[in-house]
Amino acid sequence: MFAEVAVAAAAPTRQTFTYRIPEGLAVEIGHAVYVPFGARTLQGIVMEVTDTPAYAEARDIEAVIDERPLVSPERLALARWLSDYYLAPIFDCVSLMLPSGFKQKPLTLLRKAFWAEDSVPDMTDTERAVLESITEEGVVEAEKLKRATSASGAARAISALIRRGVLARTYRLASPAVAPKVVAHLRLMASEDDARSVAAKLREDGSSKALRRAVILEALAVEADITLARARTLGLTAATLRDLEAAGLARVEEVTVLRDPLANRTFRRREPPGLTVNQQTAVERISAALRGDGPTGGAQQTFLLHGVTGSGKTEVYLAALDETVRLGKRGIVLVPEIALTPQTVRRFAERFPGKVAVLHSEMSLGEQFDVWHEVRDGRFDVVVGPRGALFAPQPDLGLVVLDEEHEWTYKQQEGSPRYHARRAAEELCHLTGATLVLGSATPDVESHFRANDGNYRLLELPDRLVRIDGAVQKAPLPEVAVVDLREELKGGNRSIFSRLLASAIREALASQEQVMLFLNRRGSASFVQCRDCGHVPECRSCSVALTYHEPQRRLVCHYCDRRYPLPGVCPECGKPRIRQVGLGTERVEEAARDEFPTARVLRWDRDVTRGRNSHEAILARFLAHEADILVGTQMIAKGLDIPLVTLVGVVSADVALHLPDFRAGERTFQLLEQVAGRAGRGERGGRVIIQTYTPDHYAIEAAAHHDYHSLARQELDFRRRLGYPPFGRLVRMTFAHTNAGYAQKQAAVMALELREEMARLGLPNVDVLGPAPAYVPRIRGRWRWNVVLRGADPTALLADVSLPRGWTVDVDPISVL
Ligand code: ADP
Ligand code: ZN
Repeated sequence: MFAEVAVAAAAPTRQTFTYRIPEGLAVEIGHAVYVPFGARTLQGIVMEVTDTPAYAEARDIEAVIDERPLVSPERLALARWLSDYYLAPIFDCVSLMLPSGFKQKPLTLLRKAFWAEDSVPDMTDTERAVLESITEEGVVEAEKLKRATSASGAARAISALIRRGVLARTYRLASPAVAPKVVAHLRLMASEDDARSVAAKLREDGSSKALRRAVILEALAVEADITLARARTLGLTAATLRDLEAAGLARVEEVTVLRDPLANRTFRRREPPGLTVNQQTAVERISAALRGDGPTGGAQQTFLLHGVTGSGKTEVYLAALDETVRLGKRGIVLVPEIALTPQTVRRFAERFPGKVAVLHSEMSLGEQFDVWHEVRDGRFDVVVGPRGALFAPQPDLGLVVLDEEHEWTYKQQEGSPRYHARRAAEELCHLTGATLVLGSATPDVESHFRANDGNYRLLELPDRLVRIDGAVQKAPLPEVAVVDLREELKGGNRSIFSRLLASAIREALASQEQVMLFLNRRGSASFVQCRDCGHVPECRSCSVALTYHEPQRRLVCHYCDRRYPLPGVCPECGKPRIRQVGLGTERVEEAARDEFPTARVLRWDRDVTRGRNSHEAILARFLAHEADILVGTQMIAKGLDIPLVTLVGVVSADVALHLPDFRAGERTFQLLEQVAGRAGRGERGGRVIIQTYTPDHYAIEAAAHHDYHSLARQELDFRRRLGYPPFGRLVRMTFAHTNAGYAQKQAAVMALELREEMARLGLPNVDVLGPAPAYVPRIRGRWRWNVVLRGADPTALLADVSLPRGWTVDVDPISVL
């Protein structure tokens, strides 16, 4: 018998390698194995077992690393598909499905060979000592034995005994080492109801001291205990702690950290609400697909759940997961970014207490390793995480949910394979028969197109829900006003707030309501420009405009993070009129403090959200009404639900709109709809004010009327005319090199070769565009040139082309910049 193995080689390739399975070695599909590769021994995964070798001179597999196959046949098939579709090395694709730290050295285990006698002639003293301790203990880890054997030459003795057939050697995957950690926790000492009623009284009191205690008690009422670190981010001070302890409400305890991030939070089950009619219809249709008795006769189905923000999509996911579990199956839920969705993750944990695993790359390797194995053993009903969680070894997969399916974070852009989780999820669901649910308030127009042509089944939740006095009601979407900034300038208003926005902010503040101001840039002013000659300072190694940061008065490159002093005079023309253009969150924060001096202003962007809990900390402060105005980048557009927010101001909608990318219009619409979704989630309703220099742009007009269909129609018309997705596919090939001329020349040679190849293959329907310098022409000292392929099946052109080093290929790129 022979095996096709994906080998963890230094130079990755799309090829598998053929090995012979030696007599007596049980090798199955999905096994991790040791194989000879050149002069070395490498790890690999068995992709296929056959009796006809693809290569005659196959060498022997040396050993099986773990007795249990690591990857299921469906997931191996998915890896193959990923490798073919994204033109990516096969081992890179298999790696997605492996536990973290796979490439670490596995443990070597020793035991006495079954046929060996207790004593063998001519043993050295060391050999005898080794054999005795193994006989005593059964199975011994080689490294431990070497350390424990005081006699020198233990390693040599072990090898000799193996050679003589006395010892047998096996391997097991090693968990990446993580020392156990002890962490202080704050534990609730009263009942959940008591905590809530005390918190309610404290809130009535209203002093900031009382509010601090209320916030902590409310958190404890939900989770019973929280880490002290988290309690601090929620506003716990020494005095607050003393008060809580003195009242017998809470206590600090030391807890050994379990590595699963949800494991040190205990959730209480929250029962589902009664569903609305629309929700019920959606759940019924998904359930029919789960049971395999839908109108498609049991074939796998994909649903597009299109519902405005706050329409109850998450409740539909939860109900569908309930049904999945009832049918004895399990689910995977993908969210765009774990740090930005604490509220969402928590809702899953509350519906399935103790049965939800979180898996994401910010966890330590040890945590990921442990959770991966527990998932494989079927410990969890639901796995939640960002795109990589799709490849968790969840057995009996019945349902996959992609929340916010239009988000770009679902595409892996850096590093191979450059897959899109939506496309990969479709494939996984086809392979496993699982049902796929894509949800969004603003579906990717490509998904919308697939729902229209019948590939996806469309489910709609047109009404936004709000809870008023405990009862759920339909609520209108917030009213949107568009302010033409050109008119403001003409009217002599030089403030960054238009007259309309400024008066709306004043009104909201006067009625004790909260305001969010949104901008999709960080930093104070975005860039610096000379008013005389127009020069814009750029990063020396990235050729991208530098961003001005106010507090340090410095210029920062947002690609490589290099910092530069702010020039006093223009380096080009020497005149002093060089100053900042555009806006950043810091400028908006400052202007808000100036113009609304009584308001408490908080800023939320990447600069202030480094560190583990700080997103949550800022959110908690805003929720506790410790601030009136929250200024932020698109991050505040994510799934937040803050009832007191009645006004959302988009300070400038233009930056996103004028990026030279074909998806800029769609992207701007999505961002505007998302921020608009933050207004009026409570009973007081809400409004949105968008400031722009281009009020007539179709994306702005569609956002002003919450008119997704108008956006989709215009966007698809435009894509059809130009052959952009979904009417054609794109492949972006990038060549990067430190020598500018060489980079350009190589790209030109490639473009020429591809045009010849196209003629040779007779592929009329592919355009070879470029070469062109990348939008960011230089990153970390390397010049980048793009060649873009556009057509019905552009990867066909690359089937027989071998790409020299320095090229990267991105199939279905999210941008061609
Ligand atoms: P989406 O995921 O579409 O943004 P959510 O599921 O978060 O919407 O629902 C918005 C709000 O309405 C949440 O606070 C949720 O708890 C509540 N909600 C949703 N469906 C119902 C329902 N059927 N009954 C009561 N409340 C509901
Ligand atoms: Zn740079």
